[in-house]
Amino acid sequence: MKSNFRANLYAINDLRYENAPIPECMEDEVLVEVKCCGVCGSDLPRVYTKGTYHFPTVIGHEFAGKVAHDPKGELDGKKVAIFPLLPCFECESCKQGSYATCENYDYYGSRRDGGMSEYIAVKRWNILAMPDSLSYGEGAMCEPVSVGRHAVLKLDIKKGDKLLISGAGPIGIIAGQWAKSLGADKVYYFDIDQRKIDFAKSIGFEEYTEGDEISCVVEGTGHSEAIRRCLKAVKPAGRVVLMGNPAGEVNMAQDTYWYILRKELKLFGTWNSAYNDVQNDWKDSLTAMAEGKINVKPLITHRYDLSDCNAAFEMMKNRAEFYNKVMLVMNGGDENE
Ligand SMILES: [Zn+2]
Ligand SMILES: [Zn+2]
Repeated sequence: MKSNFRANLYAINDLRYENAPIPECMEDEVLVEVKCCGVCGSDLPRVYTKGTYHFPTVIGHEFAGKVAHDPKGELDGKKVAIFPLLPCFECESCKQGSYATCENYDYYGSRRDGGMSEYIAVKRWNILAMPDSLSYGEGAMCEPVSVGRHAVLKLDIKKGDKLLISGAGPIGIIAGQWAKSLGADKVYYFDIDQRKIDFAKSIGFEEYTEGDEISCVVEGTGHSEAIRRCLKAVKPAGRVVLMGNPAGEVNMAQDTYWYILRKELKLFGTWNSAYNDVQNDWKDSLTAMAEGKINVKPLITHRYDLSDCNAAFEMMKNRAEFYNKVMLVMNGGDENE
C-alpha cells in the first residue's frame, strides 16, 4: 500500500514526520496527492510558541497537488490549488460571500489537518483547477499571491502611484508585483533585515529612504515602529492598508496618531482573500501567474523534502540562511521546475 507521510504537530516543539493511512474521500471531497506545501510565517509560531487549536494537527495551508481520486470522476489527474478556508455558509459574512470574515470557519492546516501530507481529502468547493503551464510550486504560492492581491486592491492603485511596502517577505514582494501590474510607478521597501531589502532590489524594487515621495502604503509587519514609519512617510490624503498580523500589542504615540488626522489619511484593513463569484483573488492570481504578471519563481528560495520538515523549520526559526519562501516537496515534488 502507498504511504501517506505527513508533518503532524503533536505539541509545541513536537512536529513529527510520520506515516498514516490515506484518508477516505467523502462524496463532496476529492483526494489530492500533494506535491508542494509552502511554509507560512504563521506556521513558525504554530510549531514553536502558540500551537494549533487542537493536537495533533497536520499543518500547512499553502499547498497544491494532483487529484488522485475524484468520486465524481471529473477532476482525476488535474493539477489543483486549494483555498484553505472552510466557511460556515450560515453567518452574515458568508451569506454575502465574504468568507474571510466568517464567524465560524474551519481551516486546512490550523483547525483541521492540512497540506504537509502526501495525501489529503479536500472539499470540492475549495479546489481550483490550475492552468497546466503552472508548476506545483506556483500553485502552492496561490495563497500568498491572493492575500497580496486582496491587500493591494484596497488601495485602488492608479498610474503613477508610489508605494511604500513595510516588510519584504513573500507577501510584501508579491504585493509590490501586484502594485506594479496595476500601474504603480515605484515600489519602495523597508525591512529590519537588510538581506530582504537586498533581495527586493535584486528583483527590481527599491529601498526606501526617508524623503521619498509616497502615495500608498502596504504595512505588512504589524509592528508599532513600522506602522509609525509608514504613517510618517505617506503624503497627505495617502492610502494605507494594514495587512501585517501583529505578534503582540500595537501602540501608537500621539504624533503617530496625528499623522492620520492631520494628513487626512485613508486607512484600510485587509484579511485573507476573496473567494466568491464577484471577486475571486484565487482565480485572478492563477491567471496572473500563468500570464507572467506575477512571477513567484524567484521567491521560492528553498526546497526541502517533506521528510526534512524539522530541518526546514529550524532553519527558518534560527534565520540560519536568507530565505523568502520555503517549500516542502513530496510525491515527486515540483516537477515543472
Ligand atoms: Zn499563509
Ligand atoms: Zn460563516
